[in-house]
Amino acid sequence: IFAAVEMAPRDPILGLTEAFNADTRATKVNLGVGVYYDENGKLPLLGAVKAAEKVRLEAAPARGYQPIEGLAAYNQAVQNLVFGANSAVVRENRVITFEALGGTGALKVGADYLKRLLPYAKLIISDPSWENHRALFEGAGFTVDTYTYFDPATRGVNFAGMKASLNALPAGSIVLLHACCHNPTGADLTAAQWKEVVEIVKARDLVPFVDMAYQGFAEGIEPDGIAPRLFADAGLDMFVSSSFSKSFSLYGERVGALSIVAASKDEAARVLSQVKRVIRTNYSNPPTHGGAIVAAVLSSPELRQQWEGELAGMRDRIRAMRTGLVDKLKARKVAQDFSFIARQRGMFSYTGLTVDQVERLMSEFGIYAVSTGRVCMAALNSRNIDYVADAIAAVLKA
Ligand code: PMP
Repeated sequence: IFAAVEMAPRDPILGLTEAFNADTRATKVNLGVGVYYDENGKLPLLGAVKAAEKVRLEAAPARGYQPIEGLAAYNQAVQNLVFGANSAVVRENRVITFEALGGTGALKVGADYLKRLLPYAKLIISDPSWENHRALFEGAGFTVDTYTYFDPATRGVNFAGMKASLNALPAGSIVLLHACCHNPTGADLTAAQWKEVVEIVKARDLVPFVDMAYQGFAEGIEPDGIAPRLFADAGLDMFVSSSFSKSFSLYGERVGALSIVAASKDEAARVLSQVKRVIRTNYSNPPTHGGAIVAAVLSSPELRQQWEGELAGMRDRIRAMRTGLVDKLKARKVAQDFSFIARQRGMFSYTGLTVDQVERLMSEFGIYAVSTGRVCMAALNSRNIDYVADAIAAVLKA
């Protein structure tokens, strides 16, 4: 049965990491990754997570099955984080939340349910978008199109183009939006622009699906939640996927959540029963550990405060690397204006470096970046930033 099977294309980003690992140069830098590294170039284990894990280890709980929708305390904590504990949707029990296997798992459960609910709907993602969005939604059976998003001239958002794309959509189309820290570009909408998007989505009867993989990495928990909060306040039915991979540095524990807002408590209960069927036939119920740790941190005032402090530390360090790189490139008298790097937010920047320049960074300097020019700002630290600035200046000049 396997004789005619073809080799699938390699994941471009994982392939980059393999090439990086094989590079023997001591000065090599991997800017291709999608994870947060600390000042020492290490994946952090947050203090709040460590404290919650210690308590859990000492309690030595039995390893029973979880409910299909996951841990109730976790799901409640996620709703509070995404919409605010005092929001109407939470108080009126109009939002239901499912513990999911990371942000990816949340998107996939949402995609599978939406395909059953709206089988003929078109789904659109930003141009460009996280490289897994298209494959994930196509895998769920959707036809995936793009809406105008990035403006290569300003390296910000082409907002007029985005609005024109949204306004041209047939009613009932599903629009996938990045809540903040857009991956891969780092270009985000302003609060005023979000309000306009909400108006268009409402007026044109579109279905918003907000992907929130970096809540807390742009400005903070509340400001980064502006998109789901505005959609909820506008009374729209909506989907939100959350990921805690980055914000809790719990990548491998697969901690995410899918939240769905409905028009009434009764509607929400019916939707809950249907999404549970999707989950039951996929993986039955989610793993325990990661969700239990996130729930413990979010429901303890001390641990929550500690976590928010650690999250702010990650956010501030990325910002410092952004402004640092802008200053260092300026000091090296490069012709281009790189100030946009400091305006972009989150882990990534679309630098505008060409395929050839990225190739030279790799071959001449052992600096690995995605061929689109996407670099991970969180892979920079005070020891490698000068080397990276030197290298970028060199490939720009030649
Ligand atoms: N959405 C976006 C925009 C992402 O960048 C990522 C992860 N890099 C995900 C979803 C998936 O999150 P997770 O790793 O928790 O599955």
